[in-house]
Order: sequence, then C-alpha cells, then structure tokens
Amino acid sequence: MLNTIKSKILIFAILATLIPSVGLGLLSFWQNETVIADNVSHQLRTLAGDVSRELEYWLKERIEGVRALSSSDAVINGLSNQSRRRSGNAVGSPQVLPHYLRLVAEKLDPLLELTVVDASGQVAASSDDTTAAISLPDAWPQNAATEGVIIVPPHWNETHAAATLTLAVPVLSLDNEILGALVAVVNLGTVQPRLMDVANVSQGDVVLLDLSGRPLLGTHSGVSTLSAIDTQMLKHLRAHEGVPMTFEGHLRRTMLGLVELPRTLPVIVVAERARADIYQAWTVFRNMFLTLMAGLTLLVGLVAWRMGRSIVTPLECLTGAADRVAAGDLSIQLPVMQRDELGHLTQVFNQMTDKLRHSHEEFEAASLALQKQNQLLETLSVTDSLTGLYNRKKLDDILTDQFARFKRNKRSFAVLLLDIDHFKTLNDSYGHLAGDQVLTSVAKTLSQSIRSVDYAARYGGEEFVIVLPETMIPAALEMAERIRTQVQSDTYHFNNQHMAVTLSVGVAGSCDDDDTAYTAIARADEMLYEAKRAGRNQVRCVV
Ligand code: GH3
Ligand code: MG
Ligand code: MG
Repeated sequence: MLNTIKSKILIFAILATLIPSVGLGLLSFWQNETVIADNVSHQLRTLAGDVSRELEYWLKERIEGVRALSSSDAVINGLSNQSRRRSGNAVGSPQVLPHYLRLVAEKLDPLLELTVVDASGQVAASSDDTTAAISLPDAWPQNAATEGVIIVPPHWNETHAAATLTLAVPVLSLDNEILGALVAVVNLGTVQPRLMDVANVSQGDVVLLDLSGRPLLGTHSGVSTLSAIDTQMLKHLRAHEGVPMTFEGHLRRTMLGLVELPRTLPVIVVAERARADIYQAWTVFRNMFLTLMAGLTLLVGLVAWRMGRSIVTPLECLTGAADRVAAGDLSIQLPVMQRDELGHLTQVFNQMTDKLRHSHEEFEAASLALQKQNQLLETLSVTDSLTGLYNRKKLDDILTDQFARFKRNKRSFAVLLLDIDHFKTLNDSYGHLAGDQVLTSVAKTLSQSIRSVDYAARYGGEEFVIVLPETMIPAALEMAERIRTQVQSDTYHFNNQHMAVTLSVGVAGSCDDDDTAYTAIARADEMLYEAKRAGRNQVRCVV
C-alpha cells in the first residue's frame, strides 16, 4: 500500500503541511502559555500584596480604636474602682463599666465583645455576661507594656458564628501603672468589603486561612463551603511565599495560586485563580487551531490524493497497455486525456505501438511469403521435375523411415519396383519427347492407383518404386497387378501415333534379416528381372 506513488505523494503532502504548521503552532502555544502564566503570576502577586496591605491598614485601625477605648476614663476609672472595691474601699456602682462596654460594643460594628481584665487576668467587666476568665499569655503584662498590643491569631468563632480576631491592649493608670487590659473580640468579616474591592480590580480571588489552614473568609461566594488546602501543599506554599503553584482548591478545582503572610496579622492570604479560567481563551484558541489543522490536513490530503490520481491513473493506463503490448496485442490505442508530460507520453506510446503494428504486419507478410517459398522449395527438393512424383532423395528418406518403423514396431511394408518395357525402343521409334510424355502418363496412373498412405517415386530413368506401409505381400501383389493392367489398357498418343506401353513389376516385402530397406528393393529388382526374363508385362514376387 505504501509503495504506491499515490500514497507517497499523500504522505509527503501531509507531512509537508503538518510538520511546519504543528511545530509553529506548538511553539506559539508554549510561548503563549508561558506569557499567560507570567502575567497571572504577576497579577496574583499584586493581588496578595494589596490584600496584605489592606489587612494591615484594617488591623491598625482596629488597634487604634481599641487603644482609644482602653485609655478612656470609663475604662480606667472602672478598673480602678473594681480593684478598690475588692480591697474593701467601695467606690461607685459596679454596673457602670459593663454597661459602658455593652454600649460601645453595640455601637462599634466590628467589636463583638469587649472585656476588661485586671492585672491577674480576672474578668473585671464584660459586654457579654457569659465571658469567662481570659487566659492571657505567660509574658503578660511585660509584652503588653512593651509591644502595646497582644494579637490572638484569628480563628473561627463558634459563639459568634464568624471569623474573629482578639486584641488585648493594656489599660494604664495615669502614672503608667498597668491596671489590666481591654480585650476586644473583633469581627474579621468586616474586612471582607475591602478585600472585595481589591479583588474586583484584579482578576483573581482571595481566601484568608487561619494558621491551621482553615478558611476564614474569602472573595469566593460562600466561604464556609471552601475546602481547606491540603496540609502538605499549604506547608509547601508557605515555605515558598510569593511563588505561584498549582494545587487543588475549593470545589475541587485546579487552581494556580500563591501565599502571602502579612507581617502584623497572623493569617495566611491565598491569592488564586482557576486554571480553567486562566487558560479559557487559550484553550478556545488551541481547539480552533486543532480543528483548523484537521481541516487543513483533510484538504491537503484530498488535493494530494487528486494530484496522485491524476498522475497514477494515466500511468496505470500506460503500464496496463504496455503489458498488453508485451503480450502481443498491438491494436491498443490510449485516449490522450491530459496536456501535460503524461499526455505527451501517452501520445508517444500510441505512435510507438503504431510503428510496432506496421512493422509487425510487414514482418508477418514477409514471413508468410518466405514460408510459401520454403514450402515450394521443400516440395521441389523432394519432387521429380518431369513426373511430379517423389525423387530418389525423398525415396531414400521414405525407405529409411519405413525400415526403422519395421525394426521398431514390426510394422511390415512392401515395395513395388516398376520398369517400362522396351522403353529404349519407344524412345528410338517416337523420339525422346514422346518418351517423356509416356513417363508423365505412367507416373499419373501410379499416383491415382495408390492409397493416400502409400508413396510413389521415380527411381531413375523409366523405373519407379512404390512403397506400401503396413502392407503384406498379397495386397502388394494385388496393387501391382492392378497397375500393370491399367498401364496396359491406357492409350498413349504422340503426333497422332498410337504407342503401346506396358511395364513389368517386381514385388518384395520387409524381412527380419534385412540390414536396410534396400535389401527389399534388391529383392524386388531380382523379381523385376524375373518378370523381364519371363517376357515382360508381368508381375513377379518373392515366394
Ligand atoms: P527393357 O524392356 O529390358 O527394360 O528394355 P529397355 O529398353 O526399357 O531398357 P533400357 O534400360 O536399356 O532402356 C532405358 C532407356 O530409357 C535408356 C534411356 O535412353 C531411356 N531414358 C532414360 N531416361 C529417360 C528420360 O528421362 N526420357 C526419355 N525419353 N528416355 C529416357
Ligand atoms: Mg530400365
Ligand atoms: Mg525398361
């Protein structure tokens, strides 16, 4: 199949089209993919950076708010009175501070809970009656004094059904003595609108995770349904902060994203985009390219197939015709369908077969003539020119053949040796021409008297031999007698003169002891001599 010219042209055309175009296409896809990946990485880095900054601003504002509350007279006095009350110096109402805290917590949206604790961490007052004692870090109050604020990492708060962040700022007396702390539970959800604003201006989404990797909030709808990123993957992302990677994100979608860790807020910022979205246009373009390639391949294949056919079909015609010419059919003429090299080749082929046909016809005619000449020559070479009977040379062949058959197959044969009586006298009396005429007439009688399988030959002068294949002596005698009678009864005229003609016949048959056929002829000759001696016009045979 692949050895045909048609398939070779087809394969060449398809390869010549596909290799450069597919190569260029793949190169372009690879470049596009790299450019897209670089662009998206840049966008994600910018997004994560912007979000981190927004979070830090937001945190700063919250800290400042809580710090302002911690330095308010209500908190400082409330906490001072509380400690005095414990030591027995009751001052003011114990309900003033909780009331104040409740009022502030209700008014300031992000503050879900405000609690004032004394220097030992015991709850002095709270906006929420159920608040238990707060366990402050071991380094308290030293850290609170030096760092000014303690930030408990954000987590999912089941009580408030929200992501919350706890801030603790020290409450200082007028002489800078630590009285306790104001602890605020802040709703992290209030930062979401800001994140949305940042995410809206760049393509991509943001998810905030607590330090264990649990999603707290994000710009995706329904952050509570977000699945946590695989722990190992998250560890990897954190170790390579700012480096984009592919991972399985929420809703089990393959995402390209990176991690950023804000300096002041202990959360993990994940900026991400679904790979399918990133490469949507690229995928559409790739599918269009592949479709175009398939179409182009089909088209090129079709054109190559037609071209192949236009070359191969005339070639097949030519080879088929050449086969027929080789087999001897010179009558073939091909239609010239095209005006190209193949059309010219077809024309030349037709001219060639024309010439071959003419040459062949001439050759056939010459051959026929030669055959006839040969036949004539062959006939002449075995024929006696005067009588038309076989000549002596042919007689030799006949006798040799008959003797061989006899020796091989025991097929007996008989010979008659015939001699015209007193022929010399006839010649002398009527002339040589008359003698020739008698010879011709007798020869004719001999030809007419024998069977189709028998042979009559002129032996020499006025002597003849008749060879009778597969014949025994009695039948030979009978034929000799019939011939003798016929010659005697025939009438012979020359110049209106009547001539009497008779002949004598010696008959012999093949014998096992004979060395050659001429042994039989010799016996016949003896019999002829007997017939002459007995008075001529007689038949004699070996008894
Ligand atoms: P016999 O009865 O004993 O046979 O007598 P004959 O005269 O026939 O015998 P002979 O053999 O002596 O004579 C044969 C003659 O035939 C001699 C020759 O001149 C003649 N002859 C041989 N060939 C030809 C020929 O082609 N044409 C003619 N006209 N005569 C021939
Ligand atoms: Mg004679
Ligand atoms: Mg004679």
